[in-house]
Amino acid sequence: MLDTIIFERYDDSQSLTEQSLRLLDQQQKTWPQLIDGYAAFAGVRQKHISCSGFGVTLQCNPRRIVSSGAKIDPKSIRERKCFLSIENLPPEQRGILYRDRFLVLCNPAPIVDRHLTISHIDHVPQAVEEYFGTMLLLAKDFSPAFTIFYNGPRCGASAPDHMHFQACPAGVIPVELDAASGQRRVPERTIDGVQILTLKNFGREAILLEGTEADRLESVFHRLMASMKKEEKTTQEPKVNVICSSAGDAWRIIVFPRAKHRPDAYFREGDEQVMISPASIDIGGLPVTPMERDFDRVDAAMIEQIYSEVSLTRDEVERIISAM
Ligand SMILES: [Zn+2]
Repeated sequence: MLDTIIFERYDDSQSLTEQSLRLLDQQQKTWPQLIDGYAAFAGVRQKHISCSGFGVTLQCNPRRIVSSGAKIDPKSIRERKCFLSIENLPPEQRGILYRDRFLVLCNPAPIVDRHLTISHIDHVPQAVEEYFGTMLLLAKDFSPAFTIFYNGPRCGASAPDHMHFQACPAGVIPVELDAASGQRRVPERTIDGVQILTLKNFGREAILLEGTEADRLESVFHRLMASMKKEEKTTQEPKVNVICSSAGDAWRIIVFPRAKHRPDAYFREGDEQVMISPASIDIGGLPVTPMERDFDRVDAAMIEQIYSEVSLTRDEVERIISAM
C-alpha cells in the first residue's frame, strides 16, 4: 500500500524542499482535488486589520469550512474515515517518505501557497511531546524554506486521532516576524543554554524557545509542557499550538499556550455565529474564516476579543515559565 503512494524517499543526500516542490508540481497536474483546491485558493480575499499593539491579516477562504466547521468530538472522529490514513488517501495522492515514519503530502485546502501536511504513516494519535524530536529534524531539513507547525488534538487539529505536522513557506505566518523583532521580544529565562522569551503588546501570549542543541531544546520543551499541564491541571497534552523553524544551526520554537480552542462567538446561533476556529496560523496572525459574512464584519475589537479568550493570560504564562 505504502509503496504505491511514495513519490520519492527522503535521505540526507537530497533537499527535502526541492523534493516537496517537485511533489507539489506533480500533484498540481494529476490530483483533481488539489487542482480544485489551488483554483479556489487563487480567489481567497485578505485584508489587514490594525488591533491595539499588533495587526492581523484576515483571510476569507470558503474551502476551509471542512476544517473550521469540523466536528471534533470523539464520537464524530470515531465514526468518520480518517483522511490521513494511507488506506483512505485518494488514488492520485502521493507523498515523500520521510525517515521511514512520516509522509510529506500536499494539503488540498491550502491557507497559504505550498501548504503541506506531514502525517505519520500509521494511525497514531496527535502527540507533540512524543514527536518533538521529529519536529526539530523536519525544521532543519526544510530550512530555510519552510516552517513546521503543529495543532494540538484539542486546539485545531482536524485529525486529532492521526499524528501530523504541517508546513508552509518560512515567514508567511506573521508571528515569525514578530518573534524576530527587538520591539516585541522579552527575555525571561535561560535553561541549559536554551533562551526562553515572551512577546509583548501582542494581544495574546506566546512563549519562545531558542537554542542550537536539539537535545537541550527537547528537554526544555518537555519541562515547558510539564509546567503547562500543571497550570491547566491536566494529565493530557496541554492545549497548545507550536510553530518551529530553523536557521543556520539555531532553532526557534513559538508556543501558543491556549485557554480554549474555539471562542464563544463560534458557538452562537444563526447569524450571531462568527466562524473563526483558531489553530496555529490563525493565532499566529492570519485568522481564517470560511464565511464571506464574517470576513466583512470582523473588526479589530472582535479579533482582540477572540485572541484574549483563547489565549492564556500574562499571569498564567509567568507562572508556567517560573515553574519550569
Ligand atoms: Zn488515520
